[in-house]
Amino acid sequence: MPDTRDSALRGDCANCFGLCCVALPFAKSADFAVNKPSGEPCRNLQEDFRCGIHTRLRPSGFQGCTVYDCFGAGQRVSQVTFGGVSWREAPETARQMYEVFPVVRQLHELLRYLTEALALRTARPVHAGLRAALDRVEELAAGTPDALEKLDVAAVRAEVNPLLLRTSELVRATAGGRSKSRRGADLIGKRLRGAKLRGTDLRGALLIAADLTGADLSLADLIGADLRDADLSDADLTGALFLTQPQLNSARGNAATRLPEGFDRPTHWTA
Ligand code: SF4
Repeated sequence: MPDTRDSALRGDCANCFGLCCVALPFAKSADFAVNKPSGEPCRNLQEDFRCGIHTRLRPSGFQGCTVYDCFGAGQRVSQVTFGGVSWREAPETARQMYEVFPVVRQLHELLRYLTEALALRTARPVHAGLRAALDRVEELAAGTPDALEKLDVAAVRAEVNPLLLRTSELVRATAGGRSKSRRGADLIGKRLRGAKLRGTDLRGALLIAADLTGADLSLADLIGADLRDADLSDADLTGALFLTQPQLNSARGNAATRLPEGFDRPTHWTA
């Protein structure tokens, strides 16, 4: 199973210079209480790079912060790429650090998917390709600030994508029945209560606020699916592919939601 607990691919805020709280822009919305441009530190970011309202983000209107994960890019950029010298200590590095952070986040997201695929026995026919891709992306993520700033990360994603697609086909073929595709489907707000979506390709599907109560999403490919406010109560996500913790955090669910191994049940889910 994917080692989603791999500390290198999970955000470690204690070793990060608060990069998501500075480098990313916010638009005032249901997710963020304020507008903030890229490069401006969030008003809640403390001197020690900790969040001043960490324990009350949702009631304070900063729900967006609770569903974000940098996949470990923050600590790599802070401690490795920029050698542990923060944008506060060396303001001349700030611009480049903010440029590099989202690039490394995308590379770490790819590493996360590749790591997952390599742990799947059914994906064995593509393991050699996956391993080579993992080494290549790891090498890119370890690049210098200049190399990372110039990197065409979309091209890297395009190189890796066929391997992830093939992995998805191999795994979903074990689900039985005909292969179903709802790739990129607009399912916003749809009633999918109890839907039989086992082994379905839901890549990039828009499932915002969809009612997936009791749905069977086992072995479904959920890469890039938008699950914001989707109701996963009593749903079965066993063996779901390429699911990420931020996707889960953005959804609703309960104690009966069956999760793939290695995921945390979001604290805001109901009992
Ligand atoms: S509210 Fe806290 S977690 Fe969110 S951006 Fe601001 S400092 Fe970071």
